[in-house]
Order: sequence, then structure tokens, then C-alpha cells
Amino acid sequence: MSEQRHFFVGGNWKMNGTYASIDEILKFLNGDNLDPKTEIVVAPPSLYLSYVRGKLNKNISVAAQNAYKVEKGAFTGDISPTQIKDVGGDWVILGHSERRHVFKEPNELIGEKVGHALSAGLKLIPCIGEKLEEREANKTEEVCFCQMKAIAENVKDINDWKRIVIAYEPVWAIGTGKVATPQQAQEAHHSVRQWISKNVSPDVAKCVRIIYGGSVTAGNCRELAQQPDVDGFLVGGASLKSEFVDIINARK
Ligand code: PEP
Repeated sequence: MSEQRHFFVGGNWKMNGTYASIDEILKFLNGDNLDPKTEIVVAPPSLYLSYVRGKLNKNISVAAQNAYKVEKGAFTGDISPTQIKDVGGDWVILGHSERRHVFKEPNELIGEKVGHALSAGLKLIPCIGEKLEEREANKTEEVCFCQMKAIAENVKDINDWKRIVIAYEPVWAIGTGKVATPQQAQEAHHSVRQWISKNVSPDVAKCVRIIYGGSVTAGNCRELAQQPDVDGFLVGGASLKSEFVDIINARK
């Protein structure tokens, strides 16, 4: 557990929420029992970003779940980092496993999105993680390092790493109820940090936050949060429920 890396919890609402259900989520997010030491970011569907920003306490930041690689133009259905900032979003999740595997976004495109979102001034949560067959074939590091390379190649200024939180999300753990063990998470986070130390800089590796995602719940978050290289969580399903508060408070 690092003192210099501020504990970070993100909530990815995916394609869930209507005004009525979002108002219920806002009730527990706007409550007064959130650990003030945790940095909190929630990612509603982009349609509701502005609404959520307007209603949410200012100690919680708002993220988009994706963004395209250019500022504007003929890209029907997509949104840009400039638009995210315009409606009050500070962060964007990029390369989430559902973008990679449902929407077939390749590493190269995710890298380009990283470069553009940084140049537009957003903070970023780029996601990496292996599929089950890749883990079983002992390819976890190979896959994660390749994904990291595509991201890191597009971070042109070393200071931009201060605006990046890496999410390690093994695909087999996302939305499946099959959480990585604390040891599996620690091992993967440690090797990603070592990769950053070798390929970016030892100082960046010490400071960059690497958060875990994949079936995190109130029941399993505390042990995961004690791992020295686990700096927080990206939470899907449980971020829609009041147990998200317990995850925010995992180190309280
Ligand atoms: C996610 O969507 O990033 C995620 C980790 O989902 P879940 O917590 O539902 O597994």
C-alpha cells in the first residue's frame, strides 16, 4: 500500500441508468459517509453526464466511458474529449474490455484515443487485461504489456502520466462474479508497474496508480485494497448499488 498514491475508486455505469434510477444512485453518492481520502470518479452514460455533473457533490468527478480520437467531425454516434469537457467531465475511460471485445477496438485505436484525450486536457483511465484463454496460456504479461505499449507510446510528455490511472481488468473477471484473488491482482499490478519502470521511468512507476476491476464487491474489496500495488478499483455492477460506498471506504 503506497502512501504517495492516493486511493482511487471509479464507478463505470456502462449502458445503465435512466433519470429515475440515476437519482437513486445520486442519493448514496451525495451522502456524508464517503472516505474523504478516496478520489472518486463516476462514469454515467454520456447522455446523462451533464445531468449527473449538475446534481453530484463536487468532491466526486465525472468521466465519460469512451471518446473518439479527434475533436469533431463526421463520426456519427461518437463523442469527443472536447465535448466531454464542455459538459463538465474531467475524465474518460478508454479501452474498456467491452470496447475492445464487443466493439472490436484494436490497441492502435485505443492508443490514438489516449494521445488525443491527453492533448484535449482530460484525465484518463486506460484499461488493460487478458482474456481467460490468454491467462490459461500464460500470456497475461504478454497481452498486458502489449496493451501498455500502445498506451505509453501515445503519452508524449512524461508529466502527462500524472493524469493517467491504469485499470487492470482481467476480461474473465468483468461482470462474471469471478473476482481475481488478491494474489493474482497483486502479481499483475506488480508486473505492470515493473513494465512502466523499465519502459517509461522508475519515477512514473512509483507514482502512477494502478487500479483493479472485475467483480469487485463490498465483500471482496478490503483484502484487495490491502495489496501493495492495488491503488483502488474500477467498479461496474456494484457501482450502481449502495455497496459502492463500502468499496469507496475499503481502506477506512
Ligand atoms: C467494469 O465494467 O469495468 C467492471 C469491472 O465491471 P464489474 O465490476 O461489473 O465486473
